[in-house]
Amino acid sequence: MSIQESDLMQKLISLCKRRGFVFQSSEIYGGLKSCYDYGPLGIELKRNIMNEWWRSMVHERENIVGLDASIIMHPQVWQSSGHLSSFSDPLVDCLLCKERFRADKAPVVEVGSEVTYTDPKNKKKELKGVAERSYVCPVCGSPELSAERNFNLMFKSFMGSVDPMSQVADKLAGKSHNAQEIREVMEEELAKSTVYLRPETAQAMFVQFNNIQQSLSLKVPFGIAQMGKSFRNEVTVEHFIFRSCEFEQMEMEFFCEPGTQAKWLDYWKEERVNWYKSYANYPEKFTLRQHDDDELAHYADNCYDIEYEYPWGWDELEGVASRTDYDLKKHSEGSGTKLTYFDQQATNPETGKPGWRYTPFVIEPAAGATRATLVYLLDAYCEEKGVDAKGKEKSRVVLKLHPRLAPIKTAVLPLVKKDGMPEIARSIVDKFYKAGVMAKYDENTSIGKRYARHDEIGTPYCLTVDKQTLEDGTITIRDRDTTEQKRISVEDALSEVQARLQ
Ligand code: ATP
Repeated sequence: MSIQESDLMQKLISLCKRRGFVFQSSEIYGGLKSCYDYGPLGIELKRNIMNEWWRSMVHERENIVGLDASIIMHPQVWQSSGHLSSFSDPLVDCLLCKERFRADKAPVVEVGSEVTYTDPKNKKKELKGVAERSYVCPVCGSPELSAERNFNLMFKSFMGSVDPMSQVADKLAGKSHNAQEIREVMEEELAKSTVYLRPETAQAMFVQFNNIQQSLSLKVPFGIAQMGKSFRNEVTVEHFIFRSCEFEQMEMEFFCEPGTQAKWLDYWKEERVNWYKSYANYPEKFTLRQHDDDELAHYADNCYDIEYEYPWGWDELEGVASRTDYDLKKHSEGSGTKLTYFDQQATNPETGKPGWRYTPFVIEPAAGATRATLVYLLDAYCEEKGVDAKGKEKSRVVLKLHPRLAPIKTAVLPLVKKDGMPEIARSIVDKFYKAGVMAKYDENTSIGKRYARHDEIGTPYCLTVDKQTLEDGTITIRDRDTTEQKRISVEDALSEVQARLQ
C-alpha cells in the first residue's frame, strides 16, 4: 500500500512513541525542542547501525583504527580549526511573523520578482511585495526580513570551580556601566573558563594524529574512526530526529599521500553509498551529489553528499569530503607540534631523493547515526493489506528492517501459557542469549496480536512453541516479511536464525 509521503512522517513518529523507539526528551515537562530520547527499541536500532558501521569501517579493515575522545576539548582546538570564527549559520528574522530561520535553507525566489504571501494576522488576506533577496520567510513567505547575522552553532559551558558570573559581578559592582562595557567585562571573565561541546567528532582525530600513528606505527594511507555525540545549537530544528541539537556521528578521517586524494575520494564515496544500500529495501532512494564550487567548504577541494529521498525531498545523510591538509596544518600551527608523516620509501618531489616528510591529505566520510536511524525507519515502514486464515481482510503495519539492524532478532512465543510450552520457549531463548543473539520471550496476548506487535517493531523471525512441539520437538519459524511459516526442530532454531542473519 503506498503511503502519502506527507502522512509517512506522522505515522512513523506515532509508531516510534507507541512502540518505544523515540520519545521527546523531558516530555512530562512539555519536552525540550529538538531533543529526543531513544527508548528500549530505538537504542537497539541505533546501536545496531553504529555497530554495523564500526564493523565495516574498523574491524574489517587492516588500516583503520578507532578512537573514543572526550567531548570537551582544549578551547584552542576550536580556535585553530576555525570553528570559533566560522562555524556559524546565517540567521534571519521575519519582520512580519517573527520566525527566526536559516537563510541558506529558506525557499528560493528570484531577486526583484513579485512575491505573494499571507498576512500572519489575517490568513485570508493576501499581500504582495518585491523580493530584495534570493529567499523569503519559510513560514509566511514574506520578503520583509531582518539583516543576516552569523550565529555560531557551538554550545558553550564553563569549566573549573570558579563561578565566572561572580567574577563578572565583582568587577561590575558599585559602578555604572554602559552596555558595551558590561559586554567587554563579561567576555573577558567568561573567556577564562569557557569550553565548548564538540560540534563534530572529527577534530580529535586530527589532534591525536601523532599519538595514534606513532603508537601503532601506522603507514599512510590509514584511517582513524570515531563514533559519538556531537552538539550544535541549530537555528532551525526540523523533521523529527533529522536535525537535532544533540546527535550522534560516525566519522572517519582517512590520511593519504598528497596527490592521491582524488582516487581515495572516489573510493570512499562508492564504499559509503553502497554500505547504505546494502541494508535498504529501496536502494534507489540513496544517491551521490557532488558539491558545486560555491558550496564547497573553504578547506575542501571536493565533496559529495550522500543524499536520501526523504518524504520532503532529497536531503543530506552523509558528507564525504576531501579536506586537503587543512586541519593537520592548522593544528600544527596552533599547537606548535608538527603533525606530519615521514615516508622512507617515497621520493621527495622537491629534492628527487628517497624519504619524504609531508602533511597527509584527508578524506572524511562523515555520517550521522541518528539521521541514519531515521532513514532506515523510513525505508522500513510499510502498510500491507492481506487476508487472515478465515479469509477476512485485514491490514498490518510492518517495519521491514534489515535483520542485522532489527532491535530484536527473534521472538520466542509459547502458543499458550501452559502444558510446558513456556519452559521450552524459555530454554530456546536461553540458547540465544548465550550465543549473543538478541531474542525475547513473549507470552502476552493472543498469538495473532503477538505476531502483529513483532511485525510492527521489525522482529524478523518469530519462533512458536505449540502442541506439536510437545509431540515431535519441532517449532514454527515465521518470516516477518512473507508471513510464511515452516517447521524446524527445536535443536536447529539457533543455527537457522544465525544463518538467516548472515
Ligand atoms: P546539514 O547541511 O544537514 O546541516 P552538515 O553538512 O552541516 O549538515 P556535517 O557537518 O557534514 O553536516 O556532518 C556530518 C553528518 O552529521 C551529516 O551528514 C548528518 O548526517 C549529521 N548531522 C549534522 N548535523 C546534524 C544535526 N543537527 N542533527 C542530526 N544529524 C546531524
